[in-house]
Parts: sequence; structure tokens; C-alpha cells
Amino acid sequence: METNEVKAYGTEAVNVPLHSMNIKRRELQPHDVEMEILYCGICHSDLHQIKNDFGHTMFPIVPGHEIVGKVTGVGEHVKKFKVGDLAAVGCIVDSCGKCEYCEDDLEQFCDEGVTFSFNSPDKYLGGATLGGFSETYVCNERYVLSVPEKLDLASAAPLLCAGITVYSPLKHWQAGPGKKVGILGIGGLGHLAIKIAKAMGAHVVVFTTSPSKVEDAKRLGADEAVLSTDAEQMSKYAKSLHFILDTVSAKHDVNTYLNLLRPDGSVVLVGLPPEALEIGAFNVVGGRKSFSGSNIGGIAETQEMLNFCAEHNITAEIELINIQQINEAFDRLAKGDVKYRFVIDMASLKK
Ligand code: NAP
Ligand code: ZN
Repeated sequence: METNEVKAYGTEAVNVPLHSMNIKRRELQPHDVEMEILYCGICHSDLHQIKNDFGHTMFPIVPGHEIVGKVTGVGEHVKKFKVGDLAAVGCIVDSCGKCEYCEDDLEQFCDEGVTFSFNSPDKYLGGATLGGFSETYVCNERYVLSVPEKLDLASAAPLLCAGITVYSPLKHWQAGPGKKVGILGIGGLGHLAIKIAKAMGAHVVVFTTSPSKVEDAKRLGADEAVLSTDAEQMSKYAKSLHFILDTVSAKHDVNTYLNLLRPDGSVVLVGLPPEALEIGAFNVVGGRKSFSGSNIGGIAETQEMLNFCAEHNITAEIELINIQQINEAFDRLAKGDVKYRFVIDMASLKK
């Protein structure tokens, strides 16, 4: 297959810092859209993958799955986009398109397995898909999102993964008026969850391990913020919440949070701690409680989320960096030292 060479940032191994490299993008297929990448967010999943936390990283890796940019080329059958349109790509860039899940707009559950924007087997070029820390992205128009003009492009980038990952479960578990929703962890996902749950009409209680984020959580829109390391503060919330969205990226005690649920409540995990989490029988049995999980969201729901965020003026709070600062940014993300999402200005790749 014909390819084009473009600049990117990636790495060949766990302990090798990310560096400039050239990668190949496929020539436009009839249903493909090519976009110049303007901004790309940095998600904790990018960090998990470059560290091979889950043991399935395919090197060389180019991370990046919160991609926004401008359409620079369209295949002959493309209907949704034209050159010059704003466009975005999130986690999903391919699926079978015909199983019951794809037909129901739940591509994330595709029977044949979804292709993620990076670190998935690449059906066209072999090897692994290469992500958004690069000049361009090429994929089928079905997986390309429209970006509402109203959204600031750089701070909208994190919506493509962090935004949909919290929007989907908040909607599925019916966050809204009359519901007390807990948000666990105020990072990239958590800070957007506060804003989205508030916009849905829920009463939002935030749990953070960081004293500096307690006040900030209220600025972000939380009704209450709790320092989770303070046992006395925590005891006041026993049996008080309908639903808790857990965005924590490392091993932690979920039983503490199951105890904060009302009967029939759910703790829903979206964070991906590499280690298994233990659950005590008495923490779920007594109140008929659930512990469950959620993974990103389908393409139609991602578009719905972008439109919802435009309507409610929701974008991420970001720290804009140049690609040359990428390794420092990953070090800071590992320490929880970012308020609240790094986004790369991809124009810096040309420097
Ligand atoms: P992030 O910005 O690093 O935020 C994670 C937050 O978790 C931190 O800010 C911190 O919040 C809290 N935390 C970290 N370590 C902790 C510990 N040891 N104990 C308690 N709290 C801790 O990460 P993110 O980008 O939001 O991603 C969060 C997780 O979701 C990652 O594991 C990521 O891979 C995963 N993820 C999953 C999906 C999905 O579809 N399921 C999609 C995207 C990301 P405080 O300072 O407030 O305590
Ligand atoms: Zn992500």
C-alpha cells in the first residue's frame, strides 16, 4: 500500500525517552479522511502504555488519542467532511461495522475487537497503529468527529478521551437532578466529570487525595469536596451517594467507597490500575451494591458528548506544551502534577 512519511514523537522501549521519528500514514482510501493534527491531549493511558503497565504495548509506540485538527484530504466516497473542516479523532479508529454492537453504535464492544488510535494491530500497514503525537492522522470517516466551532480547539482535545470516558457512564447510570454523584480522583478525567455531572444536574461530591485540589474542586463546580485521607471527613459521607465514578489510575481501596453508597448504588471504575482490586463481600452484599466498569464510549455518543459540551461551555483546564517538553510532561503526570490536562501544540513538531 502507498504511504506518506510524516514526523512524530514516540519510543522503541520502556526506558527510552520519547524522541522525534518518521512514521508512515496510509494513502487515502475511498472512505478515509486525512487531518493535520493541531492539538493532542496527554491521557494517563498514554503513560500506562509507554511504561507497558498492562504488558501489551507494541513497540515502537507513538501515543496520543485526544486528537483535533483540520481536514487536509478526503477519499472519493467521503460524505461527512470536506477539506478545511475542523475534525477530531479519539480512541476508536476502526471496528467491524456490522456486528450487533457496531450496529447499535457501541463500537467499543465490537465482536471482532476495535482498533484503537494507537497500539492496536494496524489492518492496513501491519505493525501497530500510531497515535496523535504526529503531523497527521488518517482513518475512515465513520470514526472522525465534528468539532463544534464554539469550542476552543486546544482545550477541547481532552474531550475526545477523558470527556467521553466520563460522559458515557454518567449518562448510563443516570446522573441528574436528585442524584448525589461522587467523583473519585481529580485528574484529566475527574475534573471533566465534575463539570459534566454538574451540567447534567447532579449534586457532585468530589474525593481527592490532594489538599490543593479541595478548594479548586469547588471552582470547577463541585458542590462538596472531601480530602479522602481524612477519616473523620470521610465518615460523614457513609451511605450517602447514589453513584461513584472512580477515575483513580493506581491501586486503591474501593471498599472505602462502596461504603459511601446508598443501597443499590454503584461504584463504576473507569481508571485502569494495573493491579487487581480487592472487594470485601460485606461491602457489596449488605446494600445490594454494584462494582462495575466502563470503557470510553461509541462514536455517536462521542459526537453527542461534544455537542453537549459545546452547549454547556465545557472544555478541559489545560497546560499547553510543546512536543519537545513531552518527557517532562509524562514525569509530571506520573506524579499527579498537572492541573488538569497537558495538551501538545502540534505546531511545535515543525520546529
Ligand atoms: P490523571 O490525570 O493522572 O488522574 C488520576 C487521578 O487519580 C490523580 O489526579 C489523583 O487524583 C488520583 N490518584 C492517582 N494515584 C492515586 C493513588 N495512588 N491513590 C488515590 N488516588 C490517586 O489520569 P487520567 O488521565 O484522568 O486517567 C485516569 C485513569 O483512567 C488512568 O488509569 C487511565 O488509564 C484511565 N482511563 C480509562 C479510560 C476508560 O475508557 N476506561 C479512558 C481514559 C483513561 P487526586 O489528586 O484528586 O487524588
Ligand atoms: Zn485516554
